[in-house]
Amino acid sequence: MKFDFLSESDQAYFIHKASTLVEALPFIREHSGDIVVIKYGGHAMGDPKLAKSFARDIGLIKEVGIYPIVVHGGGPQIADKLKSKNITSKFVDGLRVTDIDTVRIVEDVLANEINTEIVNAINDSGGKAIGLTGNKNNLLSATKLKLEIKDSDSNIEKLLDIGFVGQPTDVNTNLIKEHINYGDIPVIAPLGIDAEGNSYNINADTAAGFIAGKLKASKLLLLTDVAGILDKDKKLIPFLKLEEAITIIKEEFVSGGMKPKIKTCIDAMHNGVTKTTILDGRIPHSLVLELFTEHGIGTQIYS
Ligand code: ADP
Ligand code: MG
Repeated sequence: MKFDFLSESDQAYFIHKASTLVEALPFIREHSGDIVVIKYGGHAMGDPKLAKSFARDIGLIKEVGIYPIVVHGGGPQIADKLKSKNITSKFVDGLRVTDIDTVRIVEDVLANEINTEIVNAINDSGGKAIGLTGNKNNLLSATKLKLEIKDSDSNIEKLLDIGFVGQPTDVNTNLIKEHINYGDIPVIAPLGIDAEGNSYNINADTAAGFIAGKLKASKLLLLTDVAGILDKDKKLIPFLKLEEAITIIKEEFVSGGMKPKIKTCIDAMHNGVTKTTILDGRIPHSLVLELFTEHGIGTQIYS
């Protein structure tokens, strides 16, 4: 195909494509050699077209010299499986109350179904992914999470037991680094294990942030099913200073799964992650837009 045989509009299209690639160069240089931890989850994961574009984006990120690490959730898929078994779960502050039957199902869905799907999608698009499960090989050590909640009547803080929900305490960073050095893209299911061998369901945002902190990742990207953090008028907050994030988390307009997400960003930044972004995984190529273009998307938290 010779260029001058193309119509003018086709020529403009290809020139635009070429210039987009060239414009990405400074961003590629900026991030090259960095570790970027990406939390993939929510509804973006259930859409086959988006799942394919995510897999290709991950491959591209790796190919240009960045080390992507994927930590995945599974909320909607876990909900479907629990529903099919007539198990209902309650949520407190965006976290699933998890009894022993529930944690077994969570483990099965995360480790055996979703993890494999993501690994296969990345491999099918030409990448080289390796599936890892947090509760195997001491990848993610955890203790039972004790949730601090305020009693609405007395305003007294109390600790709530929400079952087999874990708080990460350590990461086997050597194992992750071994895989990275081998050229693999780690895809991690957010399960944890305690000293007695009990497995825990860990909120995927929390797991991703903790891993990012321990690996001193340069970026933590949390993909979700909203544009980012929305203010009280439901308008996107594009930038948020770390101190503002600490205060916003207590606002009434921040609820449900957004709470652990923002808390994760704050903790990760306290642990040395430079930038964290909460972005819309429903937008095709959201990762590429965020990393390689001037107009990043979502809410970026910076210090
Ligand atoms: P994910 O599966 O991506 O972790 P979650 O459902 O756990 O998604 O968390 C994202 C959800 O948080 C949004 O879909 C939205 O319903 C809720 N949310 C609560 N407060 C806010 C807010 N201020 N801005 C954006 N989303 C919010
Ligand atoms: Mg969530």
